Amino acid sequence: MKQHAHLGEHLQRIVVDHNQINDGIVHLNASQQHYVHRVLRLKLGDRILIMDGRGQTWLATLNSQGAELLETIGIQTELPVAIHLWVAPPKGNGLEEIIRQATEVGVAHLHPILSNRTLLQPSPNKLERWRRIALESAEQAERQVILTIAEPVPFQDALFWQPQSPPRYLSVTRREVPHLLNCLKHQSAQSEIWLATGPEGGWTEAEVNRAIAAGVECVSLGARILRAVTAPIVAANLVAAWYESMGESNGQEEC
Ligand code: SAM
Repeated sequence: MKQHAHLGEHLQRIVVDHNQINDGIVHLNASQQHYVHRVLRLKLGDRILIMDGRGQTWLATLNSQGAELLETIGIQTELPVAIHLWVAPPKGNGLEEIIRQATEVGVAHLHPILSNRTLLQPSPNKLERWRRIALESAEQAERQVILTIAEPVPFQDALFWQPQSPPRYLSVTRREVPHLLNCLKHQSAQSEIWLATGPEGGWTEAEVNRAIAAGVECVSLGARILRAVTAPIVAANLVAAWYESMGESNGQEEC
């Protein structure tokens, strides 16, 4: 397989599991076959982009088994930093909106945490639905990597509190704390950034103190109060914009 493809052409794309690829052939399952042939109305011999959700993209042609890989494509849509979002799921379908938008912004991992004031008690099939939304959103956003979604865990059990090397930020309202953007500016480039945002009612005092005791930095996202659905996206987008603009100042496009 070669390294380049003809990107001028607008091609439909589909995300498959890595295990579905064998010897240059992608074995599409029944629902993928349905999507490709009935929904997208593609025919045998048509070209398509195949993504494995782990960062690899190929140009392929549809055949009777599924698709045959022709060449790898050097598309790069991923951020140079892996953003982990720890989110107290808002009530209703708020987390679904967060999953879609976090995917668009470039977040790598989502960790739902059930904090003291979290109103949502996710049912067991929620996680499956959230992961399906992440996959569909990745196709739409042309992500090479699908947002991973961890099992929801109680606040106190979240990995976020364990001393770890990636910088960790807890966004809090109404406090004299630095803006997240200023923290990013004063830090060298990192491979991972961890961000946490609270539920509709915010974090309790005890939760904020727990975070401070764990060495987490409390940050502001600006002077206005953002909804629980908006805050994680604003936080993630600040990180995404900061890291992508760093790439520009390293010799890529300038305005
Ligand atoms: N009355 C709650 C309070 O003051 O904490 C409002 C919570 S807000 C709807 C939900 C979450 O979004 C907060 O817990 C916080 O993590 C985040 N958030 C919203 N606006 C923010 C801001 N301006 N700065 C930092 N975090 C913010």
